[in-house]
Amino acid sequence: MRKHIVAGNWKMNNDLPQTQALIDDLKRQQINSDAEVMIAPTFTNLWHAFDQLNKTKIEVIAQNMHFAEHGAFTGEVSASMLKSVGVNTVILGHSERRAYFNETDELLAKKVDSALVNNMRVIFCFGEELQDRKSGNHEQVVERQIKNALFHLDASAFKNIVLAYEPVWAIGTGETASPEQAQDMHKFIRTTLANKYDETTANQVSILYGGSVKPNNAKEIFSKPDVDGGLIGGAALKAEDFFAIVNAF
Ligand code: PEP
Repeated sequence: MRKHIVAGNWKMNNDLPQTQALIDDLKRQQINSDAEVMIAPTFTNLWHAFDQLNKTKIEVIAQNMHFAEHGAFTGEVSASMLKSVGVNTVILGHSERRAYFNETDELLAKKVDSALVNNMRVIFCFGEELQDRKSGNHEQVVERQIKNALFHLDASAFKNIVLAYEPVWAIGTGETASPEQAQDMHKFIRTTLANKYDETTANQVSILYGGSVKPNNAKEIFSKPDVDGGLIGGAALKAEDFFAIVNAF
């Protein structure tokens, strides 16, 4: 059976005291779900969060990393640095990284390789913009993003890859893809993987949906057969809301 995963992306929110307060709130919540639960604080709070959540069921993950191992890349953080503070999973390709930091499919392919070489798990994000959806090109856009960043990998690499379909028009906008739109795209992604690799590989990969998932819509979205979890932005900043989503599984 595929893993269910709910991951909270805190983005550039929460300084150290705020991180501590949210962690305290998270620890008070009950997990009534078979989903793996993850949170992605900022780099400066990763070690603290790991230290605090080490013995719980909440995994601390990173929002980004550089592809190089070390060197003259001012302001950047490598896979081995993340691993050294207890982080074994990294989000790559978030639409905000693509839009504001010019991250291309080619750059993301290098980041994916570096994460995998360092035995990290990758949550690889992709998704179309509103004009792609309106012009009916959403499947081609998504297929291209996946192909360019991931199709140089062997099938075996996919045991360490989680996919996150995040339509850009639904991120932080309050606009959600309908459960049917999410299911259609997730099915398309799985078929794309099966065509390139094989059915077994395609059926093992968890595909998360991201884009304004909230306590009031999570259950319906997660009920779709090819939706294996969620990547959560805004609603991950309140422990009760985040756990209402986690417990929707
Ligand atoms: C995200 O940033 O990955 C995201 C899905 O954000 P939100 O839930 O706020 O739309």
